[in-house]
Order: sequence, then C-alpha cells, then structure tokens
Amino acid sequence: MIDSHCHLDLPAFQGDWQSVISHAISAGLTRILIPGTQVSQWSTQHAIQSFANQNTHAISIDIACGLHPYFLSTSETDNATALSALERLLFQTSSEVVAVGEIGLDGHIAIPMQLQKAMFEAQLGLASEYALPVILHHRKSHHLIFESLKNTGFAEGGVIHAFSGSVEVAKAYVDKGFYIGVGGTITYDRAKKTQETIIYLLQHHPDRLLLETDSPDMPMQGRQGARNSPEYLGDVLAALGKLGEYDGQALNELTTQNYLTLFHKGLFCNRQ
Ligand SMILES: [Zn+2]
Repeated sequence: MIDSHCHLDLPAFQGDWQSVISHAISAGLTRILIPGTQVSQWSTQHAIQSFANQNTHAISIDIACGLHPYFLSTSETDNATALSALERLLFQTSSEVVAVGEIGLDGHIAIPMQLQKAMFEAQLGLASEYALPVILHHRKSHHLIFESLKNTGFAEGGVIHAFSGSVEVAKAYVDKGFYIGVGGTITYDRAKKTQETIIYLLQHHPDRLLLETDSPDMPMQGRQGARNSPEYLGDVLAALGKLGEYDGQALNELTTQNYLTLFHKGLFCNRQ
C-alpha cells in the first residue's frame, strides 16, 4: 500500500517518526509521500527520506515541496521571500521531488483569499516550469481552484488530496487530468456525498484513485481525537473495498499503479 499524503515531518511525529515508519512497514506500506508545507521543513523531509534509504528496503519515501496555505504569512514581503526560497529549492533539487505541494486554497482560514490565490497561482506556474504535478489542498474552495487552474493554464495534473465533494466536482478534476486522493473521510458513515462520488469513480475512473491518510490529521472513524498514522491506511482500503466491486488486493494493486503513474512516470526511478 502507498500512503500518498502523510506529514511525517511535522512536530506531531518529531519524537517517533522512525517507529511510525516501522509500524507502517508492518502494516504493509511500501511507500509514503511527504508533502511540503513550508520551505523550512525541507531538511526534515530530506532527513526522513535519507534515513529510510539507508536503513530499509521495505519502504520508500517520496517528497514534494510547496507552500501550504495554512503557513502563509499576511506580509507580502515574507511571502515573496518564501516563494523565491521555493523557486531556489526547485532549481537545485527538482529531480529529487515528485511534485509541487501541498498548495491550494482554503476558505476556512484567516489568510485573505486574494493573497492565497496569488501564492497558489505563482506555485502552479513553478510546477509548470519544472513539469511537475501538484498536490492540491481544498476546503470550501473547489470553484476558486478551477478558476486558478484556468487562469494559469496549468496542465501537469496532480492530485486533489483528501477529496470531498460531488460527482460533478470530481468529474471536473478528472477531466483536467487530476487524480483523487481518498482518505479517512470515507470511513465515516455520515460522509454519504463523498462516498457516492467515490462509488462513481470506482465504476468510471478507477485509474484515478489514490490512497492517503493525511497523518497526523484526519483520523479514521473510531479513532477521533487521536493522532492519525500511516499504519491505519488499511482502514481506508477496507472502506473503499465496501464501496465497489474490487477486493482489497486488487484495490491495493490498482492504487499503487495509479500512484506510480502519476508521480514517477519512469523519469524518477530512485527506488520503485
Ligand atoms: Zn496535507
């Protein structure tokens, strides 16, 4: 299994990420993608990847870099500095990253949308320049994300992570070349709309589904209030299994293949 979205570098894992990786391996994970949130996290992401490379053949760590809307500043100067740091990082290490992300728009935070939009579109531009897919964050913002994709003519695709939304919205992302990140949301009985969307995708676009935990956030049903962890990815797989005709093994193979198609394309063959 591949966890396509896990923030192992964040403070919630600071004291024990090595044992979190061991538990993930025991739970059957073979690869984890650590999305970026701020340029200052790069060294931690990189250290976790190097540790895994040196200590185990059982799991690979992929990394992405980007400026997450939560961590943007309200100062234009700070944001301009962060953007040029990201640009520099991509210039130096673009062959080491599998995507630009996590980037996007969040309708629930205090950072003004105009500012979020400017930073988002600038990063879509960088992803285009380096021909990298993007990892998109959304919250009450699908319509604005589509606007930005249109404004920038972005065409490298990527994943809309922790997807929740209607069939129409999912279809619009698929049409634009995006994959859909399926996480803990579908383990909750109340998430009917998103479950219906995932049923539709399982029937019509199974080749666009990815698994994710979004650890340490988005705990699965039954684990509310606790830190989420990649070792629980099997809960997402099991919930997905209940929504369609695929068994666990087939879903695992399918989502693994989808992940490698999106993020590796044969160009970045560090350790498949
Ligand atoms: Zn995230």
